[in-house]
This record gives sequence, structure tokens and C-alpha cells, in this order.
Amino acid sequence: MIPTRAFWLAGRAASGEKTLAISSPWTGRLIGKVSVPTDEQVEEAVASAYAVRDEFAATPAYVRAAALDHVSKRLVERSEEIAQLISAENGKPIKWARGEVGRAVSVFRFAAEETRRFNSGEAQRLDTDTGGQGRLALTRRFPKGVVLGITPFNFPLNQCAHKVAPAIAAGAPIILKPAPNTPLSGLIIGDLLAETDLPAGSWSILPVANDRMSGLVQDERLPVISFTGSERVGYAIMDSVPRKHCTLELGGNGAAVVLADFASDEDLDWAAKRIAVFSNYQGGQSCISVQRVIADAAVYDRLLPRIVAAVESQVTGDPSDDRTDVGPLVSEDAACRVESWVDEAVGSGATLYTGGKREGASYAPTVLADVPADTTLACEEVFGPVLTVLKVSGEAEAFAAVNDSKYGLQTGVFTRDLQAAFRAHRALEVGGVVIGDVPSYRADQMPYGGVKQSGVGREGVKFAMMDYTYERVLVLTDL
Ligand code: NAD
Repeated sequence: MIPTRAFWLAGRAASGEKTLAISSPWTGRLIGKVSVPTDEQVEEAVASAYAVRDEFAATPAYVRAAALDHVSKRLVERSEEIAQLISAENGKPIKWARGEVGRAVSVFRFAAEETRRFNSGEAQRLDTDTGGQGRLALTRRFPKGVVLGITPFNFPLNQCAHKVAPAIAAGAPIILKPAPNTPLSGLIIGDLLAETDLPAGSWSILPVANDRMSGLVQDERLPVISFTGSERVGYAIMDSVPRKHCTLELGGNGAAVVLADFASDEDLDWAAKRIAVFSNYQGGQSCISVQRVIADAAVYDRLLPRIVAAVESQVTGDPSDDRTDVGPLVSEDAACRVESWVDEAVGSGATLYTGGKREGASYAPTVLADVPADTTLACEEVFGPVLTVLKVSGEAEAFAAVNDSKYGLQTGVFTRDLQAAFRAHRALEVGGVVIGDVPSYRADQMPYGGVKQSGVGREGVKFAMMDYTYERVLVLTDL
């Protein structure tokens, strides 16, 4: 008999009336049950967070930093158990799940460090113009209020960490709503926060059903919404609350550009290996996984077979096996959608080099070229283990191809030319340019987010803290 997991309501474990069943995408078996809060319990969480917001903002930095350090330390101590849980509920290969726990450890550690140095303030002299004699401006940042964090399934622990840790670091209460198919990993953060002495109402983790979310989204006591997930849901939320501060971390169709100078055997082996790994890691269900390779004609013919070979060497199968590189997608529906997009592209004239097969929720690592520009695969985020390869002539054409997308999250550029790196940084319409590697590189302290339909605002601990706070100036007059 599988016990029902409590959720976290204003810092204490609580249960509602209904439950949510969580099953493994790999075996289809039930692996957990989570209690769902009632509307009254949601109201209690909001009221508690709202009531405690001034007290929490005034909680000394050392107290909040100690709590964040505690979570980081405890994640290390429980890392293997948590990695197993992530792998079980998400279908992520265990080695990637271990990596995810490691990243969440860092997010809480970075947040503890930022708590200690954030908001020391800035003093500005005002006597540089008439009327400013004898006046000094002190600027400090204050929380905008309670944060509503909403997270997707693909990094069920680390996405939650990216909402919760910066909120605590900024002194803003947080209500976290984890993804309905993977709530167990996010709820673990509550286990660890409950061991700290943060004010009780300052945090809640509520697996609210999607169709009960509009109350939280609309609630005026929650002025900040930090959303990570699909374009469809993200923009619907933002459009429904135009006066709230919304951060949207949405989708992408990440490109890896290989320029003509990146031409030695060693360079092409490196590019092919990185592209193969990061078009398939998490089954391609990462917003910065490589979906598009844009290769200069000078290297294309030597790169393509390397990519195909590297993709074919990816080990598929049971996510609990240490050797597995690619597990199932999050559901059979997701795999069927990927299959239909690849079939449409092939039916429209694309060349399939490898993959293109589905078995249940698993989709084989796939490489295609000559994909017509008007196919769904060429235009949308595939969120599956599928790579398209495009041949271009020269850097300008490569950069134009990157920008010929409604998305703009990150781009990888394989080059050794420093000037090309500067040109890429100037030309590419994305939130981040990675030189010498795939777009999938993300360090959790760096600014991270998109332009165009990939979203608004930035995460990365310090940058989320900026988002959750605003500048309030204090003018001191020498009387
Ligand atoms: P999703 O949009 O379906 O769900 C995201 C979250 O929104 C979930 O918690 C879900 O329960 C919630 N939600 C759904 N309907 C809602 C509603 N009406 N009101 C409020 N909340 C609602 O996304 P998903 O399928 O879980 O995740 C995949 C998407 O996330 C992809 O598009 C991917 O690119 C994106 N993503 C982006 C980033 C980034 O940082 N840019 C990172 C990871 C994933």
C-alpha cells in the first residue's frame, strides 16, 4: 500500500480531501500519491504568507542564509534517495537525476551566499544639481511581496529550487505550485525547510490542480508570479494579470552553430559528441536542449556522420540503470506528439538519418536533415530527442538561421575565433550565447532566460532576487 504524501501548508505538513496519483513514465506503475489542498487550505496559505511578509522581509540575513545553507547541506545528505525519486517520477536517467540534485545543492548554496551580500545598498550624492545640497540618497531593495512560483515537470527538483531559494534570499514569502505529474521531488524541499526556523507562513508547497489555479493567479495578495513552463500556459497567465510582475521562462528550439573554423577532427568530434548528448539528455525535454544544428558548408559533410554516430551511441532504456543516457518521455502522449511531428517532416521531404521510432513513452534518438521550413518540427519546440541539421554558407547565414525562430533562449556557437564570438554575442537574438559548446550549458548563478516567445525576465539566483524586489530610495536631508 502506497502512503499518501502530505503537502506543505504555511510551513507544516497538511492533507486535503483529494489525492493525486503519480506513476512512473517507464513502468506505468503507481509510485506515489500526493494529497491535494482544498480551496480553504489554499486560502490559509495565502493569508499566512501575506500576514508574515513584513516580518519575513525583516528577518536577519544570517537567519535566512543559515536556512538556505541547511537545505543545501541536507540535499547533499539525502542526494541518492532524492535522485532515485526524480528518476522514478520523471523517467529521467539516474545519472542525470544525480546531476539535478547537485545543481539544486548549488542553487541553495548560491542563494545563501547572495543573502549575505545582497541589499547592502548604494549611497548617491544628490548635490550634483541645484536643490540637492545637503542631501544623500540611500537605495535599498525591498520584496515586492509574496511570490507565486509555478514549475514544470522536466527538472522537478531544480526548477522548484530556482523559485524557492531566491525568494527566501530576498526575504519574500513563497507559495510554490509544482508540476502535477512530478510533485514528489519539489515536496522534498519542504521536508528540509521544515527543519529550519524560518517564519511558519513564509513558505508553502501546494500541488493545486490546474483548474483551481486561477484563484491563486488572480489573488492580489500575490503580486509576483514566477512561471516556468509552456508558452501556452505562461502567456495565458500573464495576459490574465497584466498588472502583476510576471517572470516567464518558456520554451525554445535551441541551436548549435558550427562555424567553418571549427574544422579539425578533434573539434568536430567534440561538437558532435556534445550535440548528441544534449539533444537527448532528459529525452530532449529541456528548454535549452539542442534541437537545431546549423553547420557551415565547409564542415557539414564531416560533421553530419559524426553526429549520427554519436547519437546512435546513446544508450536508451531503463532510467534506473546507471548506463542509460536516454529514458522515456514524460508520457506516451508526449512520445506520440513527437512521433507525429517527425512523421510530418519526413512526409514533407525531410531525410531521416537515424531514429524515428516510438515504443510506448520512449522515442528513439533521431536525426533529420532537409526539414522543410514550414513543418511543425522546424517551427515549434519539439521537447523530444530529435535533432534537425541545416547546411548554411558562412557566419551571417548561420546567425540569420538562428534568429529565424519565434524563440530566443540560448545558442551554442562552436568556434575558436574570438571576433566571431563577439559578433555572435551582438547578432543573436537570445538570452545567452555559449561559445565552444551547446546551448544547453547553464550554470545556476548566471542570468538565464529568453527573449521573443521564450519569455520575459531572468532567473539565476541573484537575477531572480532582483526580479522579486524593487528599489526604494531613502533621501536624507542634512538639516
Ligand atoms: P506546462 O505549461 O504544461 O506546466 C507548467 C506548470 O504550469 C505546471 O505546474 C502546471 O501544472 C501549471 N499550469 C498548467 N495550467 C495552469 C493554469 N491554467 N494556471 C496556472 N498554472 C497552470 O509545462 P510543462 O509541460 O510542465 O513543461 C514543459 C515546458 O516548460 C516546455 O515548453 C519547456 O520549454 C518549458 N521549460 C522552460 C524552462 C525555462 O527556464 N525557460 C525550463 C524548463 C521547462
